[in-house]
Amino acid sequence: MVEFSKTTSIKDIEMTINSISSFHLTDLNGVGDQTVKQLNRLGIFNIVDLLFYLPYKYTNKSHITTIQNLELGNKQVIEITVEHKETQNFRRKISTITGYDETGVITLKFFNTYGSFLKQFEVGKKYKFYGDIKHSSKGMELIHPEIIKEKDFIGIYKEKLFPAYHLTEGLNQKKLYQLIIQALDLLRLKTICFEDNFQKYIPSYCYNIEQALNILHCPSISEPIVKLENFQHNAHLRLIIEELSAFYLSILKLKNKNLTHQSYQLKNPLRDLESSFLKNLPFSLTNAQEKVALEIKNDFKNNFPMKRLVQGDVGSGKTLVSALAALHIIQSGHQVALMAPTELLAEQHFHNFKEWFSPLNIQVGLLLGKHAPKKKKSILNELFNNKIQLVIGTHALFQESVNYSSLALIIIDEQHRFGVAQRDALLKKGISGNIVPHQLVMTATPIPRTLALSAFKELDVSVIDELPPGRTPIETVVFSNTKRLELIKKIRKMIEVESVQVYWVCTLIDDSETLEAESVEALFRNISSIMQDISIDFIHSQMSSEKKIEVMNKFNQNEIKILVSTTVIEVGVNVPNASIMVIENSERLGLSQIHQLRGRVGRGTKKSYCLLMYQEPISEISKKRLEVIRSSTDGFFIAEEDLKLRGPGEILGYKQTGDINMKVACLFRDANLLVKAQEIAKNIYQEDKENAHIIMEKWSKYQSSDIKN
Ligand code: ADP
Ligand code: MG
Repeated sequence: MVEFSKTTSIKDIEMTINSISSFHLTDLNGVGDQTVKQLNRLGIFNIVDLLFYLPYKYTNKSHITTIQNLELGNKQVIEITVEHKETQNFRRKISTITGYDETGVITLKFFNTYGSFLKQFEVGKKYKFYGDIKHSSKGMELIHPEIIKEKDFIGIYKEKLFPAYHLTEGLNQKKLYQLIIQALDLLRLKTICFEDNFQKYIPSYCYNIEQALNILHCPSISEPIVKLENFQHNAHLRLIIEELSAFYLSILKLKNKNLTHQSYQLKNPLRDLESSFLKNLPFSLTNAQEKVALEIKNDFKNNFPMKRLVQGDVGSGKTLVSALAALHIIQSGHQVALMAPTELLAEQHFHNFKEWFSPLNIQVGLLLGKHAPKKKKSILNELFNNKIQLVIGTHALFQESVNYSSLALIIIDEQHRFGVAQRDALLKKGISGNIVPHQLVMTATPIPRTLALSAFKELDVSVIDELPPGRTPIETVVFSNTKRLELIKKIRKMIEVESVQVYWVCTLIDDSETLEAESVEALFRNISSIMQDISIDFIHSQMSSEKKIEVMNKFNQNEIKILVSTTVIEVGVNVPNASIMVIENSERLGLSQIHQLRGRVGRGTKKSYCLLMYQEPISEISKKRLEVIRSSTDGFFIAEEDLKLRGPGEILGYKQTGDINMKVACLFRDANLLVKAQEIAKNIYQEDKENAHIIMEKWSKYQSSDIKN
């Protein structure tokens, strides 16, 4: 048992949090409904949010530079005696002031000034200004400088670097800064305070949270600006390490909670299904498949449930690995549910698994939302009576009416298409007392390590890093739309001479389904009119499932040569004879998405091509991205590059990244601190569970919007 710590207790932390939550933004001077709305727009809902709203830039407004010493491209404060002032009444009112100090003369230009603007300056008197220096034909100029009031110069700007914050309409730097200063005062007066229970683990950083925040909002003139602006100051690092450690602590807690659950026991297999299954396969497993299958088998030996993510590039053979996992469960007399994101994919899996499992006398069922009530009822009955050992379906698998006899493993295919809630809903179907089903989630979206951490938290990760042999390399070519007709001619010839099959994908600007149907049909008409004697068809999400399956079957049997579609086909579809993938307006898609689409070809013996068309004019960044996809077929590399070029949200979708709302840390920017934070967290978790709990709770409160204004 861990002793209850004498210095910090749950009660203390609750009191501190309460003192913070009892303080409202409106308690600050100058905050009314209007300001609250503006702050909310910045994601600031309470005092903690305000204090953690850190500057992105710092300026030195405490020092006067003489005109002679002004540096180009640098913002500086000057003090000049006004010599001349005038407003020119052009369309945009421009006011100019000419002034001097002991080293030179300078002109100041102000744009869009109001009528009495220049009245505040008297000729012959001294004033201070802050701004950018430019050289013009008339000499030195200061363009639209900020007027520095004497009281600020000897007040808020004195002896420190002045912070700049990202703003929103109606809220200016000075106002926001004044609010932050008030919040810092509350800290200084101990009206509110942060629990200081982490400092002891990082003695070398020497600031507590309060000191760190003070430095970051009001650094003294001697603090290094570059470090401050790059979130590399020790005051930053100190906060980041604590927050990341708290994050790891919450993962450890989740993992530990899982350890207290029991798994379905897989002792005494009734039959050895695995070897019969493998014997029937026309190929042998790749090394990577074997490795991952073994990891799963080892998970099953634990007496707590498996929670494993299998990542593997498109076509790496994840389905087979999941089949092996399913067999282990089934041979112990339990059931397996495999959930796919689309009915099309569910049907395809059903087809495959039936072929694989029927010879082994395993009953495979398909459960889709569209099934007629009678059919549904009979499947539900069979599930309940354990007549079906493997059920495949969509979200229909976790509807209220579904009851399993003994659901011991859930498999989620293409997991990035599901939210955590849907996964949990299916999991619940198999929870019985403290016994929780095993979970296997699979994704073809290669996810960089740091991202995986944020998105999947407590899942163990396996990677299938090898493709089955015999795949033909895919050549990727990037084309401008202007070459479209030429391209069509070439493709036509390849269809006629080599009997190739083609996926032709159109991309949309927005995600509406009507638009989607329209654009697919328009593209279909367009290509059909150019290649009249070639069999072309299309598929989109507004068609009935029956129709979709009918079209896919025809394509599979080579009765259709060109299949026009949206990105629907990105998920799971497998037609080995299709060897050309054309993507229109590919610059609109994420790289990982293109990579997935490209993975639909190169599955047979024919040389395969991925033809990426783009609409001119194309931006530099789009060009770079297309070059990445052209030159690489490594899904992980592509994902890393996409991450660099577009940021995490775009890759995973907000469903996946939205649940982490870090205050200061950023998993991507601070990736180099992850290991350190992980070590600290492990240590705290082992040595001082009570404090671990307090730190975790504290940060989850800071991060949540529980403490509302
Ligand atoms: P994904 O990982 O994209 O889900 P699939 O599981 O659909 O990939 O597998 C793609 C294709 O590769 C399927 O046709 C499958 O039968 C085949 N396949 C899987 N494993 C192997 C293997 N070890 N050797 C040869 N072909 C394999
Ligand atoms: Mg798959």
